[in-house]
Formats: sequence, structure tokens, C-alpha cells
Amino acid sequence: MAGITVEGLSTVYPNGVRAVDALDLEIADGELFALLGPSGCGKTTLLRTIAGLEGATDGAVAIGSRDVTRVQPGERRIAMVFQDYALFPHMTVSENIAYPLRVRGVAKSVQRETAAKTAGGLSLGELLNRRPGQLSGGQQQRAALARAVAASAEVLLLDEPLSNLDARLRLEARTFLKKLQRELALTTVFVTHDQAEALALADRIAVMDAGRIRQLGTPREVFQRP
Ligand code: ADP
Ligand code: ADP
Repeated sequence: MAGITVEGLSTVYPNGVRAVDALDLEIADGELFALLGPSGCGKTTLLRTIAGLEGATDGAVAIGSRDVTRVQPGERRIAMVFQDYALFPHMTVSENIAYPLRVRGVAKSVQRETAAKTAGGLSLGELLNRRPGQLSGGQQQRAALARAVAASAEVLLLDEPLSNLDARLRLEARTFLKKLQRELALTTVFVTHDQAEALALADRIAVMDAGRIRQLGTPREVFQRP
């Protein structure tokens, strides 16, 4: 488990767009943290830079005491769940969940065991041999979360994880996500443009605008200001 420290971080795309602009942020170990703001304000880029999927132009990101701007991708202990869940369509649920272990060269029997155990915890035990196309949106989302959990990530990064769900499933998924996060005490950062979602889920919220943080605090501090 580990917190996240972002220091003087800038991410500039090759076309010159400064999507993240000299940003400082401290996220505590075990915190459920929301990045909120309008489309184009830099939320996804910040998340992708923390994940090492975009290179930092300037500044640094540390997970715990490790500077991840200098860690090789294979050594990262970060799991990212995307809007579209990014499950591999040709693999079963079990293979999807075990994928990060397979990449690390973990024995097949351990892969299967871990997948079964994690899936069981997320009520996916009956669905291990299905492919993503045969799952509902909510089930796909849980499978993507199971994969992140099975990878023993120390940091969970979620890009609009609930945006593709209908209202009822979204409510269910919120409750589930909060419970999972509490049980695992995983440091979790999620991107959303939905105030209600940030309000319902987050310990703290950063409101972004033009690559910077405009407001930072608990939901009460951010939303109940006069
Ligand atoms: P958000 O997630 O808040 O919608 P993004 O991080 O996606 O914001 O985008 C921030 C800014 O960076 C926007 O101006 C967007 O057009 C730009 N941007 C995003 N991705 C790229 C890219 N791959 N190349 C160039 N510009 C990009
Ligand atoms: P989001 O809704 O998550 O911010 P977008 O719809 O803005 O995503 O962007 C979708 C994809 O297009 C992303 O991979 C992003 O990196 C890329 N992108 C966004 N803006 C630009 C841009 N101005 N130039 C090039 N690529 C971009």
C-alpha cells in the first residue's frame, strides 16, 4: 500500500497542448480520491501520467517512496481500469483476471487459483469460463476490477469507471466499489465529470481546470461552500 505524490508535474503533448500544468498533489495511503472537472481539463492525462502511460514532461510522480517516473513498466504496481473496461474479448473471464499474473510468469495453477478466488469475492464465480461479450456491463466492470485486484496492485486508477452503466447498475457499482476499496484499503484515484458521483464516493476531491487544480478538499469542503 502506498500514497501518491505528484510534484511540479507537467504533461505536454507533441502538438504543444499542456494538458497537465505544474501540478502538485498528495494522495494519502488508502484514500479514495476523485479527479473532477469538465471535459478537456486534463483529468485523463493526469491519471495516465500517474500510471506511466504518458511520459512526464517535467516534475515527478512517486508511489510510496518510489519515483515511478523512473520505474520500468514491468515493475509498476499500478492497475488502471478504463471506461470501456479493456477486457480482452478473446479471453475468458478467468484468463482476463489472471492476465497480469501470466505476464509476470506466475505458475498456471496459481493463476487459476487466484482468478477463482478473486472472482468469487466479486460474485463472478459462475462466470469464469465466459467471454466478456457474454457478460452484462456491470459484470464486465467487476471482471475488470477483479483483474486489478488479482494483480495485487498497490494503487488503483479508474477512468470514468461507472460511466457506461445504467442508473441502477451505477448505484450498485458505487456501493460495491466503496466496499472493495475499504476492504482492501487500496489507494484509489478515479476520474469523473459527475459531481454526484464524486460526492457519493470520494474521501477528497480535486476539481481541475486547464491542467491545474482549482479546488481541493473533502466533498463537504468542495460542494458546501457559500
Ligand atoms: P479530460 O480527461 O479532463 O477530458 P484530457 O486529459 O483528455 O482531459 O485532455 C486534456 C487536454 O489535452 C485537452 O485539451 C485534450 O484535447 C488534450 N489531449 C488529450 N489527449 C491528447 C493527445 N493524445 N494528443 C494531444 N492532445 C491531447
Ligand atoms: P476523454 O473523454 O477520456 O477525455 P477524449 O474523448 O477527450 O477522452 O479523447 C479520446 C482519445 O483521443 C484519447 O486517447 C485522447 O488521448 C485522444 N485525444 C484527445 N484530444 C486529442 C487531441 N487534441 N489530439 C490528439 N488526440 C487527442
